[in-house]
Amino acid sequence: MYHSFKTCFLLTMASALFVYSSLTFAKTSEITTLTTPLKDNLVILQYHHVSNNTPKITSTPPDVFAEHLAYLYEHFNVVALPDAINALQNGTKLPDKSVAITFDDGFDNILINAHPLLRKYDFPYTIFINPALIGRSSQQLTWEEVTQMSQEGVTFANHTLEHQHLLNRQKLKSNNSHNQYEAIENEAQWLTRVLNDISQAEAILKGRLGYSLRYLAYPYGEFNRTLSDALNKLDYVGFAQHSGGISSQSDFSALPRYPAAGRYAKLDTLKIKLNSLAMPVLESKISDPELSESTPNELRLTLDAKDFNLSNVNCFYQGELQPITINDDVLIIQLSDNIPVGRSRMNCTARSKSEKDRYYWLSQPFFKANQNGLYID
Ligand SMILES: [Zn+2]
Repeated sequence: MYHSFKTCFLLTMASALFVYSSLTFAKTSEITTLTTPLKDNLVILQYHHVSNNTPKITSTPPDVFAEHLAYLYEHFNVVALPDAINALQNGTKLPDKSVAITFDDGFDNILINAHPLLRKYDFPYTIFINPALIGRSSQQLTWEEVTQMSQEGVTFANHTLEHQHLLNRQKLKSNNSHNQYEAIENEAQWLTRVLNDISQAEAILKGRLGYSLRYLAYPYGEFNRTLSDALNKLDYVGFAQHSGGISSQSDFSALPRYPAAGRYAKLDTLKIKLNSLAMPVLESKISDPELSESTPNELRLTLDAKDFNLSNVNCFYQGELQPITINDDVLIIQLSDNIPVGRSRMNCTARSKSEKDRYYWLSQPFFKANQNGLYID
């Protein structure tokens, strides 16, 4: 199935018209697609639970989820994630206001509360699952349900075997009982173990579903440059949990997705994100998101500011506007001295000159281990 998507794209790259009609649009008639302007832009939404009875921070109430879908149906083109990624990787533009819907973790409330609504609108969507956890608890989808949903057009992709914090370095087992200290795996051992986990999960998905997209959603959105570079070399596309629009120029080893649960489920604020544009970054001296002693205390960005003013770029961290200096077209953004343990992100936005209600959006995630060198839920 996915081979045919890819082949289709390769064969039709020269014909924009054909590419239009080969994409899966939920709300499309031939006429609406042909009149929709094209744009090098995509927004991805990320959900976990659709339920009133699950942890609030990762849950979207079913009535709010229904509100999101009704709004998307009215104002956006919901596209299948593989179609959209293939298009952008091939430099093909998408209909303006294209949005892809994703879920992480494979909870059964997706099937119970979200799937019927998504089917009603004929919206394609993708679920990132942990193959070793499928069917293990009553909250999880079973393999029978995954297979059934796959046959109904739902796409499944890799969220690692067991949802571990990928940046945690493990203690090595020692055979020497006199050993007074436990060694921690080195960087090469860590990377080998993590890549092995990801490829095992991918192999199980391929065995169960018959296809392998090589799409990885990082558990908790946590990654570092070493891991994302290694996955890029292995032809994986990585999906994280920081904010921002996506274009053909984005870093496909760590694509942003807007969380749409908890306090981020409010449609009023979600509308701004759905309308956001990928910040055109020419050069980025962005630090590795995994913070260490050597992390510089500033970010340097060179932006292609054709459709916004550099002086209008605002960067927020923990609700506070960050000081920015502009030096020969390079934005220098001071980082807070006080980056907390765990996950945080800085959001930079700039209002479009040509479309006043839309913002270019870029997010820089930070991941900081606790005093024991561990990443926490
Ligand atoms: Zn997850």
